[in-house]
Amino acid sequence: MNQRASAAILPPVQIDGMTVTNVTSYDYIFTGAGLAGLSLATDMVERPFFQGKKILLLDRDDKVKNDRTWCFWAREEEPLPPVIYRRWEHCHFFGQQFHRVLDFNPYRYHMIRGKDFYQWARETLARHASVHWLKTEVQEIDAVKGLVRTAEGTFQADWIFNSAFVHTPVLPEKFALFSAPFTQKETTAAYGLKLLQHFKGWTIRTEKPVFDPQTPVFMDFRPEQHGETRFVYVLPFSSTEALVEFTLFSANLLTKEAYESELHRYLELHYPGAGYQIEEEEFGIIPMTDTPFPVRSAGKLIHIGTAGGFVKASSGYAFLRTQRKLRALLDHWERNGAPEPALMQSPKRFRVLDSIFLRVLADRGELGHEIFTRLFSRLPAPLVLRFLDEDATFADILRVVSAPPTGAFLTAAVRQMPNFHRV
Ligand SMILES: Cc1cc2nc3c(=O)[nH]c(=O)nc-3n(C[C@H](O)[C@H](O)[C@H](O)COP(=O)(O)OP(=O)(O)OC[C@H]3O[C@@H](n4cnc5c(N)ncnc54)[C@H](O)[C@@H]3O)c2cc1C
Repeated sequence: MNQRASAAILPPVQIDGMTVTNVTSYDYIFTGAGLAGLSLATDMVERPFFQGKKILLLDRDDKVKNDRTWCFWAREEEPLPPVIYRRWEHCHFFGQQFHRVLDFNPYRYHMIRGKDFYQWARETLARHASVHWLKTEVQEIDAVKGLVRTAEGTFQADWIFNSAFVHTPVLPEKFALFSAPFTQKETTAAYGLKLLQHFKGWTIRTEKPVFDPQTPVFMDFRPEQHGETRFVYVLPFSSTEALVEFTLFSANLLTKEAYESELHRYLELHYPGAGYQIEEEEFGIIPMTDTPFPVRSAGKLIHIGTAGGFVKASSGYAFLRTQRKLRALLDHWERNGAPEPALMQSPKRFRVLDSIFLRVLADRGELGHEIFTRLFSRLPAPLVLRFLDEDATFADILRVVSAPPTGAFLTAAVRQMPNFHRV
């Protein structure tokens, strides 16, 4: 992709009382070129409305490594990047004393590898001469002046789409997500609820054929729960190759050894004698919070992706939500001539439900496995998936909220009620 811009050089500007020269000007700057930045940029360049707009993508990484795998469910008609690696119709669900093969129809469970998505995005953007890419550390954003300061210089734009910073200085302290271990103050209502979805996964190759490539394990709650919500999922690519991931919803991270011993234990228990080699590793932390993220800070800055609060607080899923929210932003912008970031917020009723669910997970983590088991044993899987996608009707919502242990949810709802105005 093009380095440095042929874009206009602005007259010197004042930043913090200092005169800065050689400020290059763009229409749009993307601070962060991961899932959200690349999803928005690739959609934008294909729309006639944005033809010829000068775009600068800034990322500290060159986005060639397979740094994550995205899984999500979607219907046939859902517009998706053309890089689906695997697609499944059925999935195993294991509770501690329960097993079912879930029929996802009309959804399919999809998997996209990070490296395939990044490569497709790079190739798509490289076809547009007005798009430039700079590998650099973003240091600061001035939302009012539309300035971005980086290790390679300062840039200015009409709009800045930020997915790089989820910390200060761009977001105020209370929005910083990873200040673990959390202080008592941070876990109290005034700061919003904050849990982490953290996971370690291995892509393994076994000596013997042990996986059913047609049927992944969506959630397996049989591992010891330790008073938290802990599960494993298994995404098979062939009878001898799979991504096996150990996941927790909790306030604090584990040691590296603890994730690994759980993975070894799971594989030895459920695939005995398979003999496996670890080919790739993945580790991730996804914020689960009801803290309201401002999608627009001020002036010319719009937060997208995790920084924009796109992660579903109760599940940690963000891939499909990112596609949908950004598409809605561009559709509206094309029709009305200006972006409306507020469109990217989830409806209030779902934010309230997420907040209650997070409260249950935070206070009664030991119930997590039972809640998911009840949902998937009592209700058709597509109904639960529709609910998690925030596509549920009022009748759907009633069916879903009455499936889990209602006492714990009522207690959580009462406890969260004073905070409903701010979620
Ligand atoms: C390992 C992992 C697996 C996940 N799996 C799933 C999944 O299966 N399904 C799902 O729905 N969601 C999943 N998620 C959640 C979510 O979809 C991803 O985190 C997603 O990548 C978020 O998109 P984003 O653009 O906000 O952040 P990112 O994709 O992380 O992009 C942010 C970019 O900003 C850059 N950056 C950060 N700081 C700076 C800086 N100071 N200067 C320059 N560049 C900077 C980074 O290099 C990065 O490229 C996963 C998350 C992780 C971490």
